[in-house]
Order: sequence, then structure tokens, then C-alpha cells
Amino acid sequence: MIKLAVIGDPIEHSLSPLVHGGVMEALEIPCAYEKVQVKKGGLPEFLSYAKKTGITGFNLTMPHKVDIIPYLDEMDAEAQVFDSVNTVKIKDGKLFGHNTDALGYVMSLQTKGYTIQNSRVVILGAGGVVRTLSLKFAKDGAKEIKICNRTMEKAEEIANSVHAKTGVPVFCDGFSVDGITKACRECDVLVNATPLGMHGVSREFEDLSFLEVLPKDALVSDLIYNPDRTKLLTKADELGFKTINGLGMLIYQGILADEIYLEKVLNREEIFEKVSTKIKQVLGL
Ligand code: NAP
Repeated sequence: MIKLAVIGDPIEHSLSPLVHGGVMEALEIPCAYEKVQVKKGGLPEFLSYAKKTGITGFNLTMPHKVDIIPYLDEMDAEAQVFDSVNTVKIKDGKLFGHNTDALGYVMSLQTKGYTIQNSRVVILGAGGVVRTLSLKFAKDGAKEIKICNRTMEKAEEIANSVHAKTGVPVFCDGFSVDGITKACRECDVLVNATPLGMHGVSREFEDLSFLEVLPKDALVSDLIYNPDRTKLLTKADELGFKTINGLGMLIYQGILADEIYLEKVLNREEIFEKVSTKIKQVLGL
């Protein structure tokens, strides 16, 4: 029996047990996957519990992705680049930190035949996930990145940091339709990283006309996976664009974490199909 956990605060709505439980079920590996509410400052107590109970590894969400770093014995290259950890493997009492978030997203694009290399990427939003994704895009050879966000200072802070680390041009604009439309005129991959359109969130895009100016081969991607098709994706589908929702990112980052726990490369496509079917059933998608 492999013992795993996810820690965070809040944690009750985490889908991690569904993702990792689904992967282990697909592999026919008995697994106990716990959701543990760990408040900010509670890492030492959780880590001693994890070591005592023989947990193989754990996933981390807010507010621990950065706070865990001083407790790690080693960090892989990706986690070092992002200064952020979403997966910890415990081996021989030592803690190994990894970050599979951004690679999970990139992998979900690859399954649709898209690559970030040489792409012009437009990102809507400048929250926690954009901090990691924009750096990944720049490292993976994006030609340029534009970030449109309601709070310009947050977009500018990420843009400056990504440009300083990679040299890739990163531009910022506000979240007005005009700003987004201007950015979309020269865009190969559009990423919605705001919660607009998400189940349980009452706010929606007020105007989706910016989609009409996208180059015809552009990919429209929404990090939201519930609902399955947001209004943004529905409209993009109607306009004939290729589209992708956030389920791929959610599942691939989980599969990559499980590869770390199990120390082997899995049959990702086959597992993806099984896990996505299960998640869609449970969420009624
Ligand atoms: P976050 O840190 O809370 O950032 C949210 C971003 O959305 C901020 O830039 C915020 O703008 C913007 N925003 C919020 N409400 C808005 C509104 N009414 N109008 C315009 N902009 C608004 O969130 P996050 O962790 O980066 O996550 C962003 C999205 O990605 C969420 O929908 C989340 O569910 C999704 N996500 C999906 C996966 C996956 O596996 N598929 C993984 C991670 C995240 P301000 O800066 O102005 O506040």
C-alpha cells in the first residue's frame, strides 16, 4: 500500500485524491491518499507526521509551495527555476522537491499537437499559476509573451522577473477588451488563467470579441476544467479555433508527480484516458 497526501489550506475541495487515486487505480496499486489541512506555519508538524507514518510523498497547494523550500534536502531543476514546489518525495528520511505544474500544462498542449517553442503567447491573468507558466513558456522558447491583467502591477512584476531570467520579451496590458484585443492580433496560444467562467464563480467575460481577431491557427486554452466548455471555449469552438480546457493540466501534473513517487515512467496516454473518464463522471462533466 502506497501512502500519499495533499496538504494545503483550504484543502476540502482539492481534486488531488481523485487524480492520484485514479492513477493508482489504473495501475492497480493499492493507495491511501489523504487530504490534510495544514495551515501556514504548520509544515514542521506535518513533516514529522509524514516521516513517522511512512508517507511516500505529498502534493502541495496554497500556501505551502514556497514555504516548503527551506525544509527540502534537494530540489530538481524545474522547481529551482520556479522557486516553487508542488510535489515532495520522501526517501530514506530525506525530502526531494519537484514542480510538475507547468510541465503538466505543456504536456496537455503537446497532446493537441501544439508547442510553445517560437509561439507568441497571450496570457489573461497574473496570479500564482501565471508566475510559473510564463517562466516555463519563456524557458521553452516562446517568441514573446503578453500578460493582460486587471491589476497591472502584478503583470509587470511577473513580466520583469521572467524577462530578467530568460531575456524573452514579456509585455503587459490591462484587462480591457481593447488591451486584450490588441494582444490577440498577434497570438499563437491564448491562455485564460483567470477564474472567469469557472463553476461556482459568478463572473464571466463581458465581451469575447477579442477572439475574432486571433490568427486562424491560434490555440485557445482555458485552465478551467469545470465546466468542461467555458463560454470562452464555446465561442472559440464556434469560430473554428482549436481549444483545450484545464483538465489535461490537472491530470498530467498528477501523472508526473506519481512518476516521481513510483520512480518510473508511466503509460501517460492510457492513464490519462482512464483518469479523465473518472473525473468527468464524478464531476458530472
Ligand atoms: P490567483 O492567484 O487567484 O489569480 C487569479 C487571477 O485572475 C488574477 O490575475 C486576478 O486578477 C484574475 N481575476 C480574478 N477575478 C477577475 C475578474 N473578475 N476579472 C478579471 N480578472 C480577474 O489564481 P491562480 O492560482 O493563478 O489560478 C488561476 C486560474 O487557473 C483559476 O481559474 C484556477 O482554477 C486555474 N488553475 C487550473 C489548474 C489546472 O490544473 N487546470 C491549475 C492551477 C490553476 P488580479 O491580479 O487583478 O486580482
